[in-house]
Amino acid sequence: MTDLTELYQQTIIEHNRSPRNFKKLEHANRTAEGYNAICGDKITLYLRLEDDVIREIAFQGSGCAISQASASLMTSAVAGKTKVEAQALFRAFHDMVAGGADAAADPGTLGKLAAFAGVRQFPARVKCANLSWHTLRAALAAAAEPVSTE
Ligand code: ZN
Repeated sequence: MTDLTELYQQTIIEHNRSPRNFKKLEHANRTAEGYNAICGDKITLYLRLEDDVIREIAFQGSGCAISQASASLMTSAVAGKTKVEAQALFRAFHDMVAGGADAAADPGTLGKLAAFAGVRQFPARVKCANLSWHTLRAALAAAAEPVSTE
């Protein structure tokens, strides 16, 4: 499993170094802000939602490698998905990082998001990994208030 763990770490490091979809979306019709007070991570998420499909998604933010890599991978994973599909991914991701040590990551469902499986061993970092997903959920629900992982 060591090789796999290293591969996952590489994925997180690489996405933190060159995050995908890192920009402001000028034509966004949904935005949400997320803040993880424990670590100081911030995310602003921009979505263009049409007929319940995420046509475009982008983010801006600052914080630790896990929070920023998670936002990069999350936006890549849900682009082009329906709201329902994105919510199913949210649940699968949440189960993976917040589940017990035995919780099985499903690589088929999660793809590259499985890189965050190791986070569940570090409870303090679970909120870093989940921040972009909670912010996504708020954006889909059109919540106007800033999101907190508290
Ligand atoms: Zn963090």
